[in-house]
Amino acid sequence: MTRAVLTLNAGSSSLKVALFPETGDDPLATGLADRIGPDGVLTLKDATGAPIASAGDLTSHAGAIAAVIAAFRARWPDLDLAAIGHRVVHGGADRMTPEMVTGPLLAELAQLSPFAPLHQPHNLAGIRAAMEAFPGVPQVACFDTAFHRSHPFVNDTFALPRAFYDEGVRRYGFHGLSYDYIAGELARSAPHLAEGRVVVAHLGNGASMCGMTHGRSVSSTMGFSALDGLPMGTRCGQLDPGVLLYLMDQRGMNAAQITDLLYRQSGLLGLSGLSNDMRTLEAAGTPEAMQAIDYFTFRCQREVGAMAAALGGIDALVFCGGIGENSRLIRARICERLGWMGIEIDHARNAQNDRIISTDLARTTVMVIPTNEELVIARAARRASGAEGAA
Ligand code: AMP
Repeated sequence: MTRAVLTLNAGSSSLKVALFPETGDDPLATGLADRIGPDGVLTLKDATGAPIASAGDLTSHAGAIAAVIAAFRARWPDLDLAAIGHRVVHGGADRMTPEMVTGPLLAELAQLSPFAPLHQPHNLAGIRAAMEAFPGVPQVACFDTAFHRSHPFVNDTFALPRAFYDEGVRRYGFHGLSYDYIAGELARSAPHLAEGRVVVAHLGNGASMCGMTHGRSVSSTMGFSALDGLPMGTRCGQLDPGVLLYLMDQRGMNAAQITDLLYRQSGLLGLSGLSNDMRTLEAAGTPEAMQAIDYFTFRCQREVGAMAAALGGIDALVFCGGIGENSRLIRARICERLGWMGIEIDHARNAQNDRIISTDLARTTVMVIPTNEELVIARAARRASGAEGAA
């Protein structure tokens, strides 16, 4: 029997999946259902990278989940799912750990949808679809906000009247599953650093930083929404709220138009006028692309400083995410003006994507650690199902 746990990460029009064995860190299969709707495409690969044949209705998340399961069942006819783990963007003000999905939990999570309208409803649709397909299989919700719930009040609030804090207008922070993974990896491989003051830069199409000590989040660049902090592929990052007032009052823009502007038209795409993709911008070399890169790296430098200030210093800087793990140019550019913090890059190590890319004499260790959000979800699902070998 092939006993396994399935992880699902449902976005607005996508579904990222991974199938993990009952023990071990390497998935049996990974995949992505993209452009869910009339033009849906499902790509599944086994552990060797070979494609797994699939077919089915990709017009809805439920259809995509059914197609994934059918493909896995055809490949592993004795497949037995021990648990299903879900990424859920928002867990609210109190949830600090993954939770088993129940009817009441789903209802509570649905009430948080106004806080994350672009993500939460899709995450919950994925859970409902999986519950229908597998009524007897334990389902576990893993929250992107949970890792940051240890924030002290000053990093959890805005300077608005108290009633807003009480109703949930807080600095939640996101990318928590990624930071959880990095904290675990550091504790395993560099325990002395994990206990110290660590700034983690998750730089991908979405980007944020987290300041942590003793493996716990103290501060994050993302706040109430996944818009704040660093500029991203298409998201603006930190913005003077006065700009929103201007857009509403002077340009007559409504909430839907502003949402589209800030989430989909801004960031690297908006500044470069070319692309949200860092590889494309690095290759383009146009003045606008270079300015977009300049802005991105400048804001990253600024936020490393802010996170270090929140921690009272810095012992390690960790890069992860598609840009952080792969772009030696961006890592070097971010670090080049941080010598005053004891950050000094070894350019040969940086060019090779080594795990440690700082010089031997540097006061602050700079690392590249590939993140693995799926594994964090799979481990939580294993724990919930009581599977042996849970990490
Ligand atoms: P993610 O959202 O974590 O998958 O990261 C996607 C981002 O990583 C995109 O902007 C990609 O262009 C960027 N990326 C991936 N590989 C490279 C690379 N070798 N050099 C520069 N950027 C990269």
